[in-house]
Amino acid sequence: GEWNEVDLNPGIESSINMVKGYARKKGVHIVMDLGALPAVRCRAARIHQVILNLLTNAIDACGENGEVRVRTETEPDALGVRVDIDDNGCGIEPAILERIFDPFFTTKPLGQGTGLGLSISYGIVQEQNGRIEVQSTPGHGTCFSVHLPIEPVRP
Ligand code: ADP
Ligand code: MG
Repeated sequence: GEWNEVDLNPGIESSINMVKGYARKKGVHIVMDLGALPAVRCRAARIHQVILNLLTNAIDACGENGEVRVRTETEPDALGVRVDIDDNGCGIEPAILERIFDPFFTTKPLGQGTGLGLSISYGIVQEQNGRIEVQSTPGHGTCFSVHLPIEPVRP
């Protein structure tokens, strides 16, 4: 994984294209709302792996007529960018929410989830001095926000 200065939007758009077929099959609509972004110094391939993970989880959480909204924005302080992946799916109960970043934690049927997506994503985002936040309302939906500094301090 190379460190580069990249506009994350094109890679996010390709990640969306990769899951479009799966979303269509499930009756889930993906809405793209990508704002102009400054170049971010990051390991872009890993960040796109994170986005792909979050997209897949969001689609999995949705039923028929579900909607997943992908939004990118520059933070108000202009020091970082934010990627939001917002779904109107099943939501996450508080007792589950505490465990979603644990390795091998999954609520999916045997063979359908490894429970590794979020734990790996968490590590990737931390490595780039960013953070992942989650807000969820059971029965209404979930929003994962990935915050990344434009110029991370790194070892
Ligand atoms: P997996 O997708 O293999 O189950 P993850 O680490 O990606 O593993 O996710 C762990 C768990 O977090 C999921 O099994 C699910 O219970 C919960 N989860 C993650 N994203 C969402 C979401 N958008 N809506 C509801 N639940 C979610
Ligand atoms: Mg997953």
